[in-house]
Amino acid sequence: MKKEDIKKLALSIDGDIFFDQSIKNLNWFNIGGKAEIFFKPKSLKGLIEYLKLYANRGKIFVLGNGSNVLFDDEKYQGTIIKLGKNFSNIALLDRETIIAGAAVTQKKLSEFAKDNNISGLEFMSCIPGSIGGGIRMNSGCFKKEFKDILISIQLVDFKGIMRSIPADKIKFNYRSIELPKDLIFLSATFKGKEKSSFEINNFMKELIIKKELAQPTKIKTGGSTFKNPINQTDKKVWELIRSAVPNETNYGDAIISEKHANFFVNKKNAKSEEMKSLINFVKDQVKKKTGIKLDTEIVIVE
Ligand SMILES: Cc1cc2nc3c(=O)[nH]c(=O)nc-3n(C[C@H](O)[C@H](O)[C@H](O)COP(=O)(O)OP(=O)(O)OC[C@H]3O[C@@H](n4cnc5c(N)ncnc54)[C@H](O)[C@@H]3O)c2cc1C
Repeated sequence: MKKEDIKKLALSIDGDIFFDQSIKNLNWFNIGGKAEIFFKPKSLKGLIEYLKLYANRGKIFVLGNGSNVLFDDEKYQGTIIKLGKNFSNIALLDRETIIAGAAVTQKKLSEFAKDNNISGLEFMSCIPGSIGGGIRMNSGCFKKEFKDILISIQLVDFKGIMRSIPADKIKFNYRSIELPKDLIFLSATFKGKEKSSFEINNFMKELIIKKELAQPTKIKTGGSTFKNPINQTDKKVWELIRSAVPNETNYGDAIISEKHANFFVNKKNAKSEEMKSLINFVKDQVKKKTGIKLDTEIVIVE
């Protein structure tokens, strides 16, 4: 779609459209070129209008908090959509049920649940993503994941058609869900169990400490690079990487974390190509030395 056409459309749409927007600062790796079109809808109406006008005219990628994505150095040819403030509401539906917008952070939702004496969402306090990203990735830690508490998802497809899907109609896998890629999650309903906020708070603190001891914090990373190969070995992926690759392996500023071998880090100015070379090298070495084929958990955006 021509820039001029989009510019004309932009005049009537409830949202902000930017051209050639840098996306480097919108992801935790701090890597990436520009987005041809970057769209921040101001309302659901604006989002649907854009989708209907843009339908079949180019690629779309939905960005959450960018804590699990690796962008390319080249321009993303298409639209990157990021939900903002108007998709960030949280409300209590009954004593154990919460509805949250897709742009709410998982940390904020876990705090809300705690303040309302609802247990079961504590694990989210350890994950730096949004609700939208958490649904797509079926994120989790300490043996709890989204599938354990999700009741339903409200979404719109890339053609602008809205739907609600009950969670029991969705197949959840380890760090993925079986739903088409052309969906934008708008909000989700979660069910926990009543418990005192004091107990919840203590449990959350425990999890946060455990997590900080095991994994690096305050660095430019996308979290776990590869999924644990659960059906192939009892070993964790970081153990396989440690046994197959020297920890000092690097491609430019793309390095392996000293604290956790499955966390790859942009030391300063790593290029996307360097991070991808590191990912491919580690994958090859693990395959050669252990026979195990690793799958990336990080979403590589082409
Ligand atoms: C330091 C660190 C620690 C981490 N620890 C954990 C952990 O313990 N457990 C864990 O599971 N993960 C962990 N992660 C990975 C990451 O935080 C999670 O996968 C998170 O849920 C991703 O959310 P996000 O909003 O950042 O998604 P993004 O990275 O922005 O996107 C991830 C995927 O979700 C899709 N997506 C995002 N929003 C929407 C939406 N509204 N509608 C449709 N699709 C959408 C994107 O298109 C993409 O495919 C960690 C990452 C970091 C950097």
